[in-house]
Amino acid sequence: MKGPLEAALDAAEIALSGVVRDGGEQARRRLAALDAALLAALRRAEGAAEGTRAAARRRELAGYAFYRRGLLKRLLARGARPGPETLRALFAGSGSDRLILLVTHACQLRCSYCRVRKYGAAMTPETAAAGARWLMGSLRDDVELQFFGGEPLLALGVVKGVVSLAERSAADAGKRVRFLLTTNGLALDDAAAAYLAEKRVGVEISCDGTMSAQDSQRPTARGGGSWALLRAGLERLRAAGVAYQVISVVLPEDAARAHERLEALAALGHRRIQLNYALGRRWTPGQSEALRGSLARAAESARRLGVEFVNATSRRREPVVLNSELTVDCDGTVFRETGVCLEEDFAAMKERFRVADVRRAGLFESYGATPFDNLALLAGAYGEGPLRGALLSNLELGMSFAGAGR
Ligand code: SF4
Repeated sequence: MKGPLEAALDAAEIALSGVVRDGGEQARRRLAALDAALLAALRRAEGAAEGTRAAARRRELAGYAFYRRGLLKRLLARGARPGPETLRALFAGSGSDRLILLVTHACQLRCSYCRVRKYGAAMTPETAAAGARWLMGSLRDDVELQFFGGEPLLALGVVKGVVSLAERSAADAGKRVRFLLTTNGLALDDAAAAYLAEKRVGVEISCDGTMSAQDSQRPTARGGGSWALLRAGLERLRAAGVAYQVISVVLPEDAARAHERLEALAALGHRRIQLNYALGRRWTPGQSEALRGSLARAAESARRLGVEFVNATSRRREPVVLNSELTVDCDGTVFRETGVCLEEDFAAMKERFRVADVRRAGLFESYGATPFDNLALLAGAYGEGPLRGALLSNLELGMSFAGAGR
């Protein structure tokens, strides 16, 4: 007899066959319920004490990872020819509307906590164009391209070429495309700021708060401070009218003082502020509790000071550790997780997260991942290593912000 998960999978397959009748409503509901059941079961299994039963359960659940691709194969094997509506119903609940282009690995800074591999690689215009075309072939009407690095302004020519191409493609396809650029702010001259304003490129800018924090934690490659350069860049952004937000990472040891960080950033004139908890670090229950308290105080401070606390308003999906953006590395390889492209620690695991070559990738949506898929992938990669504790603590912290805690 089939277990409940297998039965739910069969029911989802049947519902997908009825998309023409009901617009995919039932299929979406069944798939969402199956996603939730799988994630809950895997969280329980990952949290269970080690033993052969727990290991067997984890293996069984891991077999469901990326089950949507399996469902598509089952439909095709039955001779079905799924149209766009069926594919939308199948993949709508997985993946993201955002594609990240990692346009360069070069950076002018050497931040103390940074584990990004820095070298001179930059994306070619052809590879960047392939990324934009891939995203534009999506089934979604609204999509987003994010430029990331290293420092993406060091490859501004590539960024400009992709923005022009994506604008034209979106107009032809009847889509809306948004642009987002994540920068350290040092290369923001007047021309770059004017360009970002003209093209309505949203900007995320990293800032550690006070001058002393910025200069000590984010020195330049030559060992100098970066505060003055950053401040000049920020002034140019404001003068040009670019919509930007500052992002600041809170470490576990600073958990109780997150609201002070927001207040310091507001005092510097920033109007949109996002505080990210550090991923890849283990958060104790006490630190997690302290963070929840200080973020609640940060929200109050934001209201009082008239600034936007982006954590409370953005589309940032918790738990962040299970987010599912796809990233195109400089050489055109698509990965499931930005950190894998970036961080030295993960170099040996890159193969597990590799998805495709952007020049030969199939339907964008078919590479989507649910939080369950990502947990299965991450647990398989980090399950036996020292990062396991950090992963599980990041997961539980994020789930508590998602309002889906235990
Ligand atoms: S700006 Fe970003 S990529 Fe550059 S050193 Fe700092 S954290 Fe690393």
